[in-house]
Amino acid sequence: MTIFEKIALREIPASILAEGEDWIAFCDIAPQAPVHFLVVPKRCIPRISEASTSDNALLGTLLAAAASTARQEGLAENGYRVVINNGSDGGETVPHLHLHVLGGRHMQWPPG
Ligand code: 5GP
Repeated sequence: MTIFEKIALREIPASILAEGEDWIAFCDIAPQAPVHFLVVPKRCIPRISEASTSDNALLGTLLAAAASTARQEGLAENGYRVVINNGSDGGETVPHLHLHVLGGRHMQWPPG
């Protein structure tokens, strides 16, 4: 079981911001911005490159959850960034698909 599945099951504590039937949003333990939370499917897909067409509805749900939770956290007016790290070169460290939502400061481009 991944660390994010354990958070969804409340086996590991986390600051949970919002939750739906098949997703959960919680604060990142090592925030990279004043607001930094993760949106995670409760069912583990290791990474976006391993999602299949049968996951399309869930992927859309995760994007909508990122936007609704960002609005809830007060980020809608000034904006925010949504990031998915995929695989080694992408900087992925937890093999359970997650969307990073970062806000509360101006983001640089290109990312490092
Ligand atoms: P990745 O590097 O895979 O894109 O992102 C993994 C993220 O998960 C990192 O930003 C890291 O800080 C966060 N993370 C890792 N372990 C935990 C944990 O136990 N709890 C929480 N809330 N976040 C975690």
